[in-house]
Amino acid sequence: TSDGLIVSFGEMLIDFVPTMSGVSLAEAPGFLKAPGGAPANVAIAVARLGGRSAFVGKLGDDEFGHMLAGILKENGVTSEGILFDKGARTALAFVTLRSDGEREFMFYRNPSADMLLTDSELNLELIRKAKIFHYGSISLITEPCRSAHIHAMKVAKDAGALLSYDPNLRLPLWPSAQEAREQIMSIWEKADIVKVSDNELEFLTGCDTLDDEVALSLWHPGMKLLLVTLGEKGCKYYTKDFKGAVDPFIVKAVDTTGAGDAFVGALLSKIVDDQSVIEDEIRLRELLKFANACGAITTTKKGAIPALPTELEALKLF
Ligand code: ADP
Repeated sequence: TSDGLIVSFGEMLIDFVPTMSGVSLAEAPGFLKAPGGAPANVAIAVARLGGRSAFVGKLGDDEFGHMLAGILKENGVTSEGILFDKGARTALAFVTLRSDGEREFMFYRNPSADMLLTDSELNLELIRKAKIFHYGSISLITEPCRSAHIHAMKVAKDAGALLSYDPNLRLPLWPSAQEAREQIMSIWEKADIVKVSDNELEFLTGCDTLDDEVALSLWHPGMKLLLVTLGEKGCKYYTKDFKGAVDPFIVKAVDTTGAGDAFVGALLSKIVDDQSVIEDEIRLRELLKFANACGAITTTKKGAIPALPTELEALKLF
């Protein structure tokens, strides 16, 4: 357990996952409801590991919104930062894996409640209590939530929080790839900790050979820690003083959804009480091993939230 509060900001939604794979959306015989949204997954990952966790975001005042708020609460995430929009509906995503292996997405965001969050309705008192303020990118796509996002980051930073960013690119949601790149890079330099996947690194740099030089082309002087997650190949880390890679755990993966969120949640849940770990390579490597374990376990079960591990489960992999 830890004392410092981690506030995760952004979207929470329901993924509708077909009960049969290898068919198009229109052919799906039925769907299972899987709660998700990267920042909400991180909030639950932190709470499941025994950390103090809050989620700030807006849901629809509908059946799905109340279901999601209930899931956060059940999992020990503080709900003071959750708002309900009277008019708009909760965001929904329909995800299918077609027979050609491509993922097909359809989003209900028309606009969804999360996109209508305004800066004036943010719970600033809660945000000021954050020791770490974590966010993604979907809240940058349109106004008014883009301004709310930027305001919340500033309030958290001014109150002394570490800022943690996982771009979690969902390209089909953006008007264009160029706009996605521009918006992501416009807030990049404000973050202390950034975690990207290898695919995101490729997208942001335009390079397909992902060596250290490419990763470090995204380094900026205000940054404390840059992490590149490599799926079943583990992760790489970069600080101002050192860089390296940490091997993965070998597991039988059945669904990789949420692995990156588990990784981030694990990392933040430890850094929140002792930031000095970032400056000590031996301790940082040990922490990244723990984060890799949490990511690996999440891939061994279906869905994101049900698969997020407790500390005991993660340590059993060591
Ligand atoms: P994201 O979900 O953001 O794309 P990754 O898929 O890279 O992130 O996963 C995050 C971390 O979870 C990885 O760095 C790795 O440690 C672990 N992980 C992910 N997939 C696997 C896998 N198939 N086997 C073992 N570990 C995995």
